[in-house]
Amino acid sequence: MPSADHSFGFVFCGGGPAALGPVITAARSGRLDELLGRGIALVEPGPVGPGGLAHYRIGANSLGGPFLECLDGLGDTGPFAALHDLPETRLLRAHADGHPPLSVVAPFLTRLGAVVAGLLEAHPRCEVLRDRAEAVRLTPEGVVVTTGSGRGITARRAVLATGGRPLTGYADAEVAPGLELAPHRDKVVHSSSLIDARHTPPPARGKAVVVGGSHSAWSAVDLLLAGDTDGITMIHRTALRLWYDSADEARADGYAFDAELDVCPVNGRVNRYGGLRGRAHELARAALGLPGAAPAPVRLLRAGDPRDTEAAHKALAEADVIVMANGFEADLPPLHHADGTALTPATGPTGTVVTDRGHLVDVHGTAHPRLVAYGLGAGLAPSADIGGEPSYTRRADGVWLYQHDIGEIVLDDLLHTTTTGENHT
Ligand SMILES: Cc1cc2nc3c(=O)[nH]c(=O)nc-3n(C[C@H](O)[C@H](O)[C@H](O)COP(=O)(O)OP(=O)(O)OC[C@H]3O[C@@H](n4cnc5c(N)ncnc54)[C@H](O)[C@@H]3O)c2cc1C
Repeated sequence: MPSADHSFGFVFCGGGPAALGPVITAARSGRLDELLGRGIALVEPGPVGPGGLAHYRIGANSLGGPFLECLDGLGDTGPFAALHDLPETRLLRAHADGHPPLSVVAPFLTRLGAVVAGLLEAHPRCEVLRDRAEAVRLTPEGVVVTTGSGRGITARRAVLATGGRPLTGYADAEVAPGLELAPHRDKVVHSSSLIDARHTPPPARGKAVVVGGSHSAWSAVDLLLAGDTDGITMIHRTALRLWYDSADEARADGYAFDAELDVCPVNGRVNRYGGLRGRAHELARAALGLPGAAPAPVRLLRAGDPRDTEAAHKALAEADVIVMANGFEADLPPLHHADGTALTPATGPTGTVVTDRGHLVDVHGTAHPRLVAYGLGAGLAPSADIGGEPSYTRRADGVWLYQHDIGEIVLDDLLHTTTTGENHT
């Protein structure tokens, strides 16, 4: 463990799947010694590894196999080798070709996180603090992170991977011009209150409206269906997007898509980032009435479509609960400039704004290379580097991406970017 006045290269705030990504990428690409040699303080109050996935009451939207792909490049000897044959790994491997419950994924990620934490704890320049980051301040030389126990950690840069919280103002959002949630705000809950076991779920009784069409929206539908609901209406803004392994597979399923805009140029998948998978795919497929699907689980209304406007107003007025599934912004600790004034991050409809290197952007449009933010609520937008369907305009989010393409981007940035100045976007 370093001495108390030691200054680190990086302070990682949060130790969930996003934070672990660059460390795993470094191990795979032979750069672990270089990364750890810079000095890392990792601040995480809970178990290192699983993050929020340990609390979600749903199945994974990804297959089990990709969660295990991180092991492929980590070698059969060395610190990660023991992971190959643990009970948690074997259980996840049994779900390699299906969508495992996240309660099966999280224990594997916890084991992975324990190996990473062990590596940091054993390194003379690194440290793991079982603590919360309560505030982050820029200094002329770097950053200072103040923890819940009152410790001030100085580092060249901070990696802010503290997960997400519901987008500010979700209960008053305008779903479409003239279709406001504000008059119904007492009935509005965020999708995370159903999905995340850390929250008290609303009673799943009576009529429900789900606003959104993402994986979280369909997960909410699935949880509502398991309750005592008297009908579910989904009001979605954009066309429902289904994931397929290839364009041929999508065509064979009778799914209509744009052969250029909806197909990833890197791997040919249809709706690679924006597409629904697993149980959400099944439910949306049924709602769209694709050939051979089960009966529609919900009534679909399209926000902004004049033919659905009256029905949408009526559904909101009659609903007992309205579940808003419009996503997350980064759940960051308070940030301050070097002079102590507040540094307010910019947020947009897809969460907290960062550059294509993950540098946090503030409300004045200034990018801060010393503050690297990504993960739930602050994902990097798909770019030529990480592929994705051109029609996808939201953030790229997912454990595999953190451990591969996004991990690479962040790792390269941490090891090679100089942070002497600030960039204006
Ligand atoms: C409902 C849902 C389902 C998802 N399912 C999948 C899936 O099946 N497959 C997939 O690949 N991706 C999935 N994702 C996307 C994404 O991979 C996960 O959200 C993932 O958990 C994001 O990792 P993260 O590290 O950004 O955030 P989190 O998992 O939320 O981790 C944040 C970590 O930071 C810690 N922390 C929080 N505040 C502080 C603080 N102040 N100081 C220090 N530490 C702090 C927390 O304790 C936590 O460990 C899903 C997302 C959602 C919302």
